[in-house]
Amino acid sequence: MTEEQTQRIIIVGGGTAGWMAAAALARFTDRQITLVESEAIGTVGVGEATIPQIRLFNAGLGIDEAEFLRETKGSFKLGIEFAGWAGEGRTYMHAFGNIGQGAGVLPFHHYWLRAQAEGKSRELDAYSLNELAGRALKMQMWRPKPGEATPDMPWAYHFDASLYAAYLRRYSETRGVTRVEGLVSDVEQSEAGIASITLENGDTIEGDFFVDCTGFRGLLIDGALQSEFEDWTHWLPCDCAVAVPCATKGDFTSYTKATARKAGWQWRIPLQHRIGNGHVYCSEFISDDEALDTLLQNIDAEPQAEPNQIRFKTGMRKQQWVGNCLALGLSAGFMEPLESTSIHLIQSSLARFLQMLPGEQPNPAIVAEFNRQAEFEWTRIRDFLILHYAANGREGEPFWDRCRAMELPETLTAKIDQFRATGFIHREHEELFTEQGWLQVLIGQDVMPESWNPIANTMPEADLSAMMMRIEERNAQIVQSMPGHVEFLRAYCMPQNSRKSA
Ligand SMILES: Cc1cc2nc3c(=O)[nH]c(=O)nc-3n(C[C@H](O)[C@H](O)[C@H](O)COP(=O)(O)OP(=O)(O)OC[C@H]3O[C@@H](n4cnc5c(N)ncnc54)[C@H](O)[C@@H]3O)c2cc1C
Repeated sequence: MTEEQTQRIIIVGGGTAGWMAAAALARFTDRQITLVESEAIGTVGVGEATIPQIRLFNAGLGIDEAEFLRETKGSFKLGIEFAGWAGEGRTYMHAFGNIGQGAGVLPFHHYWLRAQAEGKSRELDAYSLNELAGRALKMQMWRPKPGEATPDMPWAYHFDASLYAAYLRRYSETRGVTRVEGLVSDVEQSEAGIASITLENGDTIEGDFFVDCTGFRGLLIDGALQSEFEDWTHWLPCDCAVAVPCATKGDFTSYTKATARKAGWQWRIPLQHRIGNGHVYCSEFISDDEALDTLLQNIDAEPQAEPNQIRFKTGMRKQQWVGNCLALGLSAGFMEPLESTSIHLIQSSLARFLQMLPGEQPNPAIVAEFNRQAEFEWTRIRDFLILHYAANGREGEPFWDRCRAMELPETLTAKIDQFRATGFIHREHEELFTEQGWLQVLIGQDVMPESWNPIANTMPEADLSAMMMRIEERNAQIVQSMPGHVEFLRAYCMPQNSRKSA
């Protein structure tokens, strides 16, 4: 193989995964990149909520945030509100960012647990700036000022995923990526993995490395290379979704809303030009018609499009990188969108791939390491998602009763047991979700610890009360000073008068 030959990377698929891959590879490598996509097939057409790490991806590409929000009709996201998961009528938030402030060696929540027991603190939300700001429908960014502590309030985005893919397509094409429109009808294999793809019109495209971004089809990784799929349906039982956008009405929240329903849950994601809505459900417990009905009865305004019905299987491809083929996006696996992790998994796979970028030929030890890291990342996210189902408080509803009774992965059981007994939460290695994320879901769904770290008892009572009060007051003051989400968004990036109704 000549040096020239090693340059050709073929990306098959032009959804969010395909264009994220094209943009990142064009930005960071000198390879010759071709992306093949088929308008006849189209994209999955959903995927509107993200987590704060997306900002690193965009920043790495040198994307201007205001322009990006304008182009994708995006809004800000400070966390996710979970309604009805702990029981009908109850809500909590998994907000990004810190909860309170640690003191010495201990995380804040041990002091909070003691303060709660002694009646010296408010609910957990009073100590989360993101949650307070979100509930007040506010948004702000702070530039660091000398001598002043900058409030810690990380944000992510809601955006129109098809506009994001289109934006990244323009970005990629101006950086030399070649786009080919065509339906892949045949895949030729080689000793290395994939040799070429053939389009319906008979054109053959050869490459040295292939990125499978063909969505649930997994044309290369599954169809050709038959990488095994590990099914997690027994832990994450939802297997369908129906999505429908509606006009903007109601609160323009700076958070995603995830409301538990009879056999699944419903999302609400406000964008500049519409609200994204969807119902994720388990087909064993509710029919498609009833699921659609539930969705349509619980949206803020008239639907703006025909419902988009999607079937899926939760799980992951055991080997996401096989030979000279990397699976990215839905072809690599899918965990339902409860914590908005799919786009992040595309981003983190790309980052990992760039760090391990093959030269002439992929090195088997590197490929194995890639797959090991991917498995760790995916299984830990899986555990976090399962927790939401397993710790639900919806007694008497067959779907939810079954979720509470299911046998959990050992890694999750260990985490819950440790927390329940001592309040201890451990974030292992590069696990995505932070201790604060776990804490909010555990407490929010009534998994209360029996005790806390005894070091928290060494703080004098008066100091404990003062600490709690100080954080509550500072958070309240910061939120008071912030502009509303719409006001901030409009000033930051929205074209004049684009959201008159807000
Ligand atoms: C119900 C639901 C809700 C979701 N919500 C979120 C969310 O809020 N946040 C989040 O991060 N993620 C979310 N996701 C996941 C997110 O939508 C995907 O991770 C993301 O869109 C990437 O999809 P993709 O590019 O892998 O696949 P797709 O969008 O399906 O794209 C596949 C591409 O492959 C092409 N293709 C397929 N076969 C061929 C062929 N034979 N020849 C040529 N081209 C072909 C298609 O034309 C298309 O361009 C959600 C997913 C679902 C199902």
